[in-house]
Amino acid sequence: TPRIVVIGAGIVGTSLADELTARGWSDVTVLDQGPLFSTGGSTSHAPGLVFQTNPSRSMARFAAYTADKFRALTHDDGPCFDTLGGLEIATTEARWTDLQRKAGWARSWGIEGRLVDAAAAAALHPLVDPDVVLGAFHTPSDGLARAVRAAEMQARAAQARGAVFRGDSPVTEILHASGRVTGVRTPHGDVPADIVVSAAGFWGAELGRTVGLTVPLVPMAHQYAYTGQIEALVGRNTGASDASLPILRHQDGDLYYREHGDRLGIGYYGHDPMPADMGALSWDADGDASSVAPPPMPSMLPFTEDDFAPAWRESARVLPALRDSKVESGFNGIFSFTPDGHSIVGEHRDLAGFWVAEAVWVTHSAGIARALAQTLIDGASEIDLHESDLYRFESVERSPAFIAATSAQAFVEVYDIVHPRQQRTALRGLRRSPFHAAEVALDASFVQGGGWERPAWYESNAGELAALLEAGFHLPVRDEWSARHFSDIAVAEAAVTRSRVAMYDMTPLTRYDVEGPGAAHFLQHLTTNDVDTAIGRVTYTLMLDERGGIRSDLTVARLGADHYRVGANGPLDLDAMLRRARAGTPDGSVTVRDLTGATCCVGVWGPRARAMVAPLADADLGHKAFGYFRAVRTYLGAIPVIMMRVSYVGELGWEIYTDAEYGGALWDLLWEAGSDHGVIAAGRLAFDSLRLEKGYRAWGHDMTSEDTPADAGVEFAVKDTTDFVGRSALAARPATRRLRTLVFDDPDAVVLGKEPVSLDGTVVGYVTSAGWSATLGRCVAYAWLPLDTPLGTAVSVTYFTAALGATVSDDAVVDPAGQLIRR
Ligand code: FAD
Repeated sequence: TPRIVVIGAGIVGTSLADELTARGWSDVTVLDQGPLFSTGGSTSHAPGLVFQTNPSRSMARFAAYTADKFRALTHDDGPCFDTLGGLEIATTEARWTDLQRKAGWARSWGIEGRLVDAAAAAALHPLVDPDVVLGAFHTPSDGLARAVRAAEMQARAAQARGAVFRGDSPVTEILHASGRVTGVRTPHGDVPADIVVSAAGFWGAELGRTVGLTVPLVPMAHQYAYTGQIEALVGRNTGASDASLPILRHQDGDLYYREHGDRLGIGYYGHDPMPADMGALSWDADGDASSVAPPPMPSMLPFTEDDFAPAWRESARVLPALRDSKVESGFNGIFSFTPDGHSIVGEHRDLAGFWVAEAVWVTHSAGIARALAQTLIDGASEIDLHESDLYRFESVERSPAFIAATSAQAFVEVYDIVHPRQQRTALRGLRRSPFHAAEVALDASFVQGGGWERPAWYESNAGELAALLEAGFHLPVRDEWSARHFSDIAVAEAAVTRSRVAMYDMTPLTRYDVEGPGAAHFLQHLTTNDVDTAIGRVTYTLMLDERGGIRSDLTVARLGADHYRVGANGPLDLDAMLRRARAGTPDGSVTVRDLTGATCCVGVWGPRARAMVAPLADADLGHKAFGYFRAVRTYLGAIPVIMMRVSYVGELGWEIYTDAEYGGALWDLLWEAGSDHGVIAAGRLAFDSLRLEKGYRAWGHDMTSEDTPADAGVEFAVKDTTDFVGRSALAARPATRRLRTLVFDDPDAVVLGKEPVSLDGTVVGYVTSAGWSATLGRCVAYAWLPLDTPLGTAVSVTYFTAALGATVSDDAVVDPAGQLIRR
């Protein structure tokens, strides 16, 4: 087995050593600059609250695994996990409603939880004043992780299998040769290694920099305070544990609480973001972890009392028993924040064998460590890790300015109620397509993705909506939540796409050129469909991981014998291709190039698309000459374009590509040509509702690496004649569940995603995406359901507290035979 060095003996490094050695990789050396196991990192003082429920299913599952694992561990000093339950209180109507949504996530992800009224909340946690609470969410299996104990017990298990742990061993250099790690340097000598995993917590960004790697995290201070003795707690926690009440969150006040014997610990996120100055962190031998100053370890900064003042006032209001007490001590503790709140896991692309696992909470630590161990050993993890992938960010998102601003925002929003369509306000307008000026002129409402500004809908289409309503079209009566960051104009845009023709800015859709003598072999091996086609063919194909799970779906256009253009889901696909391309292919080299920003794309779709575009084209756009899933190089007017006859919205039409400098002219040309055909510009929301009607999946939402092609209903993209990555694993993997389309019974029903789906009162699955279909006049959603759920089954979807009836339907509920596309 390979020699592995893990840098950092915090909760992540120790969990990883345990997970690796448990799988037989026993040549593991864990080095820490601090003493074992109170190393001075974030784990050393983490109060250890584990609330498992999370909008991300993966994160919730990582948390559940961590809680279960730690629950089973006992240290000489006591348990590693106290199952006290978790209680999240609402003091505002908005929070109470949001807790209902959260209860839905818990049910979707299989975490037991229930909503309780104020009296029941106070009965569960007697310090809570029922008069200021509207209700609460109680999860019995949440609790307190004793992080240092859990670290030590996992380290001991790893040691018993051969792992070595060394404290006071700072890694001063990552050693490498010929693009591979060879070991690490410490003051006590070099340690050779085939794989080095940086589990250095908030030191990870600095360590990464020494080998040219951007680790997008920001060390940030977060306040934690101890009260003096609280009368109501005296005598409660005199046994082995210093806590017996549920862990408590008061997110309206940016606060959380746990007991420390007869005192309370209070964590606060309400202060301004405080990025830490790494140069100022040090050990203080005389320091005391429970005193205000001086800070005893590098991850603790002196408590700034003024910042905490609002937290104390709010705490005393909600927990009246605090009024006789005061803040006795505290510290500003440091841990990592990232641009999107997720962890950072992966291998350095330019230094083989150098891995990172950082910005991981105690809550998710063992789960993420297990996923990384599976990735190292088996090539892929059981629970989807893509939200935490090191390479999920576009290059603009790896800039120091972006990382600093968005990580600070992530701190501010950590306890906020965040709408799924909510957009950040800082750092907008970084990437603008050549059509941007035209879109602004049409009064587009923009959302951003990957730094790109993308129209969600156009206010200039308000007249289309008015016309629709005048014609008696029924629109759902939306509640405030589903109406937020939404406009009914999007419904009108979808309707116009099906009745006339619309232009969609598809520029942000990432595209890569794969070229060279090895290109065909490369894509044939990397993806599941047969892409060794005639020139001019477009193929829908999948990238699988080593477990046979879907890591992406791609459209691959063969533009020449050695030239493919790949439409992809984003930077993770580029990363996967660059890594594979480096190894070359048996029949020659291959290069992969990101063309996204250098080119642009308009989708022109609708029954009148041909009539609109054909007069401009220097090619025959008739169905015979230019069939479905074909690509043609031609000119529209004087503009050189590549036209691809594909449609994610399920209508006649083309994706029209050109180089960025022609973009403005292309838009104007099409717009002008469309004026006789009633063309409109349409946005992402219309696009999304149309693709839902057609049964088209969005990778990352509807399917991930946890799902096989058969599970997701995209097995048509697998040709068993080629030897592709994941093929043998796929053959051995039985299907477990199936992504199904739901159509809601009530035309006013609207859901947004992640809601639990029940059959006869039992939760059997959950919604992935949803949208209101202009064609059906109903909400359409995809949901993961048991394999044997028959079409026509009536299910119930819980939206907040409402039970909405829906019916399991065909994958495509509009034009299942694909006649619209082929006309
Ligand atoms: P660390 O524990 O920091 O471990 C990294 C280790 O790497 C350190 O021991 C360090 O000494 C070592 N190291 C770094 N560089 C080197 C080097 N060059 N050579 C050798 N060793 C090196 N999370 C929760 O889930 N629940 C909570 O309630 C919670 N509350 C928190 C409250 C506060 C006040 C703070 C600050 C954090 C809290 N967290 C909480 C977050 C949690 O503590 C961290 O996310 C987690 O402990 C990180 O674990 P880690 O192993 O990645 O990092």
